[in-house]
Amino acid sequence: MSDWHTLFLGADNTWLFVLECAMRAVIMFVAVLFLFKLTGKREVRQFSVLELIVVIGLGSALGDAMIYTDSPILPSVVAMLVVLLCYWIMNKWMNHSRSLEKLIEGEVIRVFANGVVDTAALKKEGMTVHEFYGELRVHHVEQLGQVKSAYVEIDGELSVFFLPDEEVGYGLPIAPEFLRSQEGITDGQVACCGCGTLKEQPFLGMNCERCGAGRWVRTSNAKRIG
Ligand SMILES: [Zn+2]
Repeated sequence: MSDWHTLFLGADNTWLFVLECAMRAVIMFVAVLFLFKLTGKREVRQFSVLELIVVIGLGSALGDAMIYTDSPILPSVVAMLVVLLCYWIMNKWMNHSRSLEKLIEGEVIRVFANGVVDTAALKKEGMTVHEFYGELRVHHVEQLGQVKSAYVEIDGELSVFFLPDEEVGYGLPIAPEFLRSQEGITDGQVACCGCGTLKEQPFLGMNCERCGAGRWVRTSNAKRIG
C-alpha cells in the first residue's frame, strides 16, 4: 500500500500538477467541441454535442484513475469536476444566447420545399442527395411530388411533411431503379435527379439550371399508400 500522497497525487507530482490537469480538461473540452463541430451532427445521433463531450470526458478521466496504478486519483477527480463545470456553464450560457446554442448544437435546417431539394443546405448538413432520397424512402416516399417539406433536425434525423393525396403532384421518382435509368428522354415531363426540378420540354444533353446535374427521369404522380 502506497502512502496517501502517492495515492491521491502521485509520487512525483505537486499541487501544480492538479492545476495543470484542470487546464488540460478545459483545453480538451474545447478541442473535442471543435472536433464534433467539424465532423457534423450526423455522426453524433442521439446525443447532443455537449452531452457527448461530457460522456467522453468523464469516461476517459474515470478510466485512467480506475485502471492504472500509477495514475493518481485527484487529478482525475478534478478533471471530471471541471468537465461537469464546463457543461453546466455552457448550458447556462446557451439558455441565454440563442446564437451560441445555434453554434454549438446546430439548428433545424429545411432541405426540401416547393418541390425541389435545397442542395446547398444538404451539403452544409454533410448529406448527399442520394442519402436524402434514401431517408425519404425510409419514410415511404415514392416520388418527390408527395412531399411538402423536409427538415434535418438537430440530432441529424430527417422530418418529412406530406401533401394530402389531392395535392400530390408530379415529381421525381426516387426508387434507385428510376434514378439509375440511362435513357435520354426527349418528350413529356422530366425531373432532375440532382434536385427534383421539373422540366416540360427536355432535350438531349440538357443540364439542370438549379443544380447543374445532367440526368433526367420521367416524372411520377403516384399517391402515398397506407
Ligand atoms: Zn437539378
